[in-house]
Amino acid sequence: MKNFILLASLFIVLHACNQKKTTLKQIAKVETKVAVAKKTDSSKQQQQQRITKAFVLGKFNYKTDTSFVKANAIYTTKTIYLKNTVYKAFIAMYNHAKSDGITLKMVSGTRNFYEQKAIWERKWHKYANLTPIKRAKKILEFSSMPTTSRHHWGTDIDINNLNNSYFEKGQGKTEYDWLVNNANKYGFYQVYTTKGAGRTGYNLERWHWSYLPLSSQYLEVYNTSISYQDINGFKGSKLAESLNIITYYVNGISEQIKLLSASKK
Ligand SMILES: [Zn+2]
Repeated sequence: MKNFILLASLFIVLHACNQKKTTLKQIAKVETKVAVAKKTDSSKQQQQQRITKAFVLGKFNYKTDTSFVKANAIYTTKTIYLKNTVYKAFIAMYNHAKSDGITLKMVSGTRNFYEQKAIWERKWHKYANLTPIKRAKKILEFSSMPTTSRHHWGTDIDINNLNNSYFEKGQGKTEYDWLVNNANKYGFYQVYTTKGAGRTGYNLERWHWSYLPLSSQYLEVYNTSISYQDINGFKGSKLAESLNIITYYVNGISEQIKLLSASKK
């Protein structure tokens, strides 16, 4: 009996010890998870701190920026630079398309503030007969105000043709259907979908595809650090606020993409 009591006590002590061990293990696990989460959080913050205001406004030289690369001429119709990561993703998508008998050529890539200013002001002069607001709205059907373009970021590309009608039939439709079915697998999304159903801003652009893993981060930085005081340095820039450029145009992207970006935060 005495032995039994001794054995029972030993069992209870051992069991308690084991429970304590398990609890300690669980705590350690949770602590590791918290540490990992904190690390991910701080590396995201660090990453975002490196994304400067000048960068999201397009006020930098992508030709000398080491995170940019000049695309090989087989992928383009002119000289085009992209963020390294975006270029790699495009090549993977290009190869897949090629094996399906589809050729994807970039017709436009990165444009900085100064290049966008040249486009904007050329159109500004072209529509000189319109009132300032109508003039800006006319350009904004397809072109961004300098400092507000996604093309500043090296993440957005125009593919094969700059007319929606091209993608409605024949070869163009085959290409567009392929992109709709496959581009997402490589991180590319059509941002300027059919207007309405909540989307504001630029007209439909079947040719414009954005590499979302990076561009969604840049948009977040844009929204947290840029105000209307930063939108300046070109003709008509004073109209930006009354046209609600940041809300209606910079954020005038497909609802599906907004939801997707929000779910990845
Ligand atoms: Zn575009």
